Amino acid sequence: MTLTGDAMRILLIDDEPFALKLLIHQLRGLGHGDVIGLARARDALDLLQAGEPRIDMILCDLQMPEMDGVEFVRHLAGIGFVGGLVLISGEDERILHTAGRLARAHRLNVLGALRKPVDPARLRAVLEARRATTPTLVEPEPFDFGPEDLWRAITGGRVINHYQPKVALDGGEVIGVEALARWRQPDGELIGPDRFVPVAEQHGLIDALTRVVLVNALRQVRTWREAGLDLHVAVNVSMANLDDLDFPDFIAREATRAGVPLTSLVLEVTESRLMVDPLAPLDILSRLRLKHIELSIDDFGTGYSSLAQLRDLPFVELKVDRGFVHCACREPDLCAIFEASLGMARQLGLRTVAEGVENADDWRFLRDSGCDLAQGYFIARPMPAMAVAGWATEWRERYPVLLAGRT
Ligand SMILES: [Mg+2]
Repeated sequence: MTLTGDAMRILLIDDEPFALKLLIHQLRGLGHGDVIGLARARDALDLLQAGEPRIDMILCDLQMPEMDGVEFVRHLAGIGFVGGLVLISGEDERILHTAGRLARAHRLNVLGALRKPVDPARLRAVLEARRATTPTLVEPEPFDFGPEDLWRAITGGRVINHYQPKVALDGGEVIGVEALARWRQPDGELIGPDRFVPVAEQHGLIDALTRVVLVNALRQVRTWREAGLDLHVAVNVSMANLDDLDFPDFIAREATRAGVPLTSLVLEVTESRLMVDPLAPLDILSRLRLKHIELSIDDFGTGYSSLAQLRDLPFVELKVDRGFVHCACREPDLCAIFEASLGMARQLGLRTVAEGVENADDWRFLRDSGCDLAQGYFIARPMPAMAVAGWATEWRERYPVLLAGRT
């Protein structure tokens, strides 16, 4: 996919003939003459599945008879469409947002959402977003492995940690890092946890995996401390693997062995639908807290992180899920949920962390939000342990510049 914005072939789908004509006219006005207009999503799918002509961008109405936009998006993900996608609707803004999020969850390259009647300036902005993005494959390369391969990797030192910094919004101090597992392949490629954690969970390897990540993280904290860098390290644990009552003592032993105080450790806890015995995690988490290990409720607001957990468990930190942070400055619904989460955390006396700070807009929004800590690509991507000290030095120079950018 190497076409520039100007040479794009656009597929436009709308069941209303007038809307179709109007948009084709608007696109031509913006210099995009290569437009195919279709009234039915089914026909669009047939065209895409035929592979000819190649389509670089799709503009699709949500409200259509037969196959609506949401169903179309699902099929689009199914055929692995890698071009840009713009959703259009005359409906409530919330439907557009929901559909957009759904499409992103399907890993489609969503460039924007437009309300009808389409504003030419917004249309131009969305088309330009297409130029700025590099198309990526929707599906990752197939990666075949069995649980025994993963087991060998875990026990053979081939699962390593990368670390993503968390910084204080007020003052910019680098507070700590989150350890994120990577599986190193023989060719040096690093496989992310979303591709192997589900297998580890299914085959009873998650406990071994968590322990390796923990031990590596504790050792790394020691190395940083010796180099004068005092960082907390956060390790992800799923409540599903908190069924071994020895877990708190294991951590205490390993921390002693590494020469690291337990107060340097944060456990980011996610609930899991796999959880069988609800009492074992309560026992374990309470004892971890008694050992002064900090507990953080991870991905708050999604999936299995719930209010019941907040009520029952001794958390000291709440991480608001990225889904309520990124773009919250532009989307009132996200903003409302984000602020409500923050307010609740504050009343419960919890430290707050915003995940998913991906751009300057997210950063500016957060800076004025009263949230304590921020984490995300805008601040830093996950990096190898040896890169952290250098990054921290750069960050200390960058933070005042970001602060001076106050608008
Ligand atoms: Mg986490």
